[in-house]
Amino acid sequence: MENKEKKTNVENVVIIGSGPAGYTAAIYAARANLQPLLVTGFNSGGIPGGQLMTTTFVENYPGFPDGVLGPELMDLMKAQAERWGTNLYESDVVSIKTDSHPFELTTLEGTIRANSIIIATGASANRLGVINEDKFWSKGISACAICDGATPQFRDEELAVIGGGDSACEEAAYLTKYGSKVHLIVRSEKLRASAAMVDRVKANSKIEIHWNTKVDKADGSEWLGKIETVHSQKGKGEIQIKGLFYAIGHTPNTKFLGDKIDLDDKGYIACESGRPETSIEGIFAAGDVVDSEWRQGVTAAGTGCMAALATERWLAEKNLTKTIVRETPEPEKKLNSSDFNEEEVNEDTFDSNSEWQKGSYALRKLYHESKKPILVIFSSPSCGPCHVLKPQLKRVIKELDGAVLGVEIDIDKDQDIAKQAGINGTPTVQLFKEKLLKKQWQGVKQRSEFKEAIKNII
Ligand code: NAP
Repeated sequence: MENKEKKTNVENVVIIGSGPAGYTAAIYAARANLQPLLVTGFNSGGIPGGQLMTTTFVENYPGFPDGVLGPELMDLMKAQAERWGTNLYESDVVSIKTDSHPFELTTLEGTIRANSIIIATGASANRLGVINEDKFWSKGISACAICDGATPQFRDEELAVIGGGDSACEEAAYLTKYGSKVHLIVRSEKLRASAAMVDRVKANSKIEIHWNTKVDKADGSEWLGKIETVHSQKGKGEIQIKGLFYAIGHTPNTKFLGDKIDLDDKGYIACESGRPETSIEGIFAAGDVVDSEWRQGVTAAGTGCMAALATERWLAEKNLTKTIVRETPEPEKKLNSSDFNEEEVNEDTFDSNSEWQKGSYALRKLYHESKKPILVIFSSPSCGPCHVLKPQLKRVIKELDGAVLGVEIDIDKDQDIAKQAGINGTPTVQLFKEKLLKKQWQGVKQRSEFKEAIKNII
């Protein structure tokens, strides 16, 4: 659904957040014929889809005996929510007004009015704030090992992860695929990760654990070269590394609420234990934004379900429900189908007019021969933000009716090209026209930014 400039009607329920809690709430509310509006989030609070977008295999979500990639699981939840009639609104909620009813939500694009709200904005990864962090951000320091681990600068180099939880252990193990050695830097003398994860780390000969160690400073020239550490007994030290990854916990995304809703002393939404009701009647909360203890995909989904059922009851009690009537009781199946070719092209399959192709062969041919602009996305297989960005780019290309051609390069497969292009993280998008680099973006950006840049050169 396109974002609306300003909505004047009153929604039954607006769900804020697109992680497991938000999408589960949406599935339940949509199946109750409430036609929920789900504000996906965009810039604040991490990427749409939530924390599972920056995970590799989720091995403890029931129903997937062999594990499921985090971004894939979120794609499935999104498809299920949409199939039952959830409307998606790509924006951030910047504030809410709760002193009158219907409630008002101010987004980046305009105002939404709602009879009820479910807050499922999750929590965002913390930064450490070491000396020179800003200088080496994206030049060796990263918040997402899973997104950036495959970049050429980290290949066969020593890397470090800070933290002792499940994220730190998972990232350390993941990075051993790329780095020659991974230093896991733990501030205490124990890992708080689950037993299975601890076993995995301890069994991996490429991981060295540094107990009772803190990191003070990052250093290097153009790229990160070392970190300075302090051991609680042995004092100062340094480790030569080319990559530093943070996995030091999360902060709940509640800033946009101001003082409108009661929070606990850690900044999480205050609810009675096991209940989705917040301090404001008609506003419910679910997932990590309310849970500083369990913080699992499956617990977030469970509380999302509770919040939707509580909302449905509350709307009915207050006689506020406006249910939709479905044309058919069984909505059409929603497969993750794509109009675009996802196979890597070769000499035989390359098509100079195709709107979207994959691989280095397509890039070389288009780079040298195409008169049209080329939009190149450098991605890596488990990069969650790439999952978010790719459909957006494909939509831009489709909307521009073939005036620009898209190419996807998997930096894991095409390392040389990634190196030549100076890629230091995924997703990176480069816009070329007749062999000239016109613009480059890193991370997920609004569709309009790409569109405007392309329109300027066609
Ligand atoms: P977490 O469990 O809160 O762990 C954060 C870690 O960072 C702790 O070891 C903490 O040390 C350390 N830390 C915090 N501040 C620090 C600082 N300033 N300097 C150095 N170290 C610092 O966070 P998480 O690992 O992101 O996990 C969050 C939740 O997601 C957990 O419930 C976890 O089980 C879940 N998760 C599950 C999976 C999975 O099952 N596949 C994967 C990832 C996450 P202390 O221990 O000393 O406090």
